Amino acid sequence: MPVVDYNKYCDMLDNAKKNKFAYPAINITSEITANACLQAFAESKSDGIIQVSTGGGQFASGLGLKDAAFGAIALANYVHLAAERYDINVALHTDHCHPAKVESFLKPLIAESKKRVEAGQKPLFNSHMFDGSELSIEENMNTSVELLKECKELGIILEVEAGVVGGEEDGVDNEGMPAEKLYTTPEDMLYVYERLNSVEGGRYMFAATFGNVHGVYKPGNVVLKPTILKEGQDAVTGKYGADASFDLVFHGGSGSSLEEIRETLEYGVIKMNVDTDTQYAFSRPIVEHMFKNYDGVLKVDGEVGNKKMYDPRGYLKKAEENMKLRVIQSVKDLRGEGTTLGK
Ligand SMILES: [Zn+2]
Repeated sequence: MPVVDYNKYCDMLDNAKKNKFAYPAINITSEITANACLQAFAESKSDGIIQVSTGGGQFASGLGLKDAAFGAIALANYVHLAAERYDINVALHTDHCHPAKVESFLKPLIAESKKRVEAGQKPLFNSHMFDGSELSIEENMNTSVELLKECKELGIILEVEAGVVGGEEDGVDNEGMPAEKLYTTPEDMLYVYERLNSVEGGRYMFAATFGNVHGVYKPGNVVLKPTILKEGQDAVTGKYGADASFDLVFHGGSGSSLEEIRETLEYGVIKMNVDTDTQYAFSRPIVEHMFKNYDGVLKVDGEVGNKKMYDPRGYLKKAEENMKLRVIQSVKDLRGEGTTLGK
């Protein structure tokens, strides 16, 4: 089915909230990784979210351009075309955009959506993330409010972050951040609610942090406190009523236990970003292929190798298939199987 419009996306998020499941939001960097997601969602009979980071966009644009916005536009256009061939709903999202990249990444993407909307089409992306967590919360919300105003005019949802997701992702290193920054306080949650709800008709998702860390760590190294999310939700709904409950986003979930993941669904998480685990799933079969067929992929001792073994399509198909299986796993973990809204 075509990539969703604003109303369908809202229905997706509302459906997840009501039924306590979440959508995996999978990072893509290529057509192959997009295909793995689409097929996984279709086989799971689940709708899903496909997202592009600034690094992913830059990679997709090629070494000659290194243009994150251009790469993101190209990938999004591909997903718009490909999604039509699958029987589930897909939303397109962009991942962490830090303040320094708003002008070079978010603004051109919003401009692209504006062009499309003015021509009677849907926006290119259904949602964007602005990550102002490195700023003071006031400055973070000042920019978030301005972006939310722009997005709502185009039928785009904005994701914001307060508190810091630990670890390293896409070249942004929050290693060694003071521990209290890794947990969003109920006061911050109330502040985010009050600032963003001042934008009438704007819809947003909120990545509150609860000890979550990007990348993967050995069990026991990450102290997740999902109850932080509950405390924040209680603070907002206590003051503004049940409808004030946030649509929460879980970042840095790789390496979390199923119990921890499921617990967050009880507290209003409706989107969980998955990147590290699908990266590993993609690379794993390639490693096996190279190790098992080293004398085919290499020209050893004056031999000529084996074209069947070093043709990239051979091992990339295995990578796509294994990534697909990992996405299906995420759908299951997030209780999303069979939840597609259909047409
Ligand atoms: Zn993240």
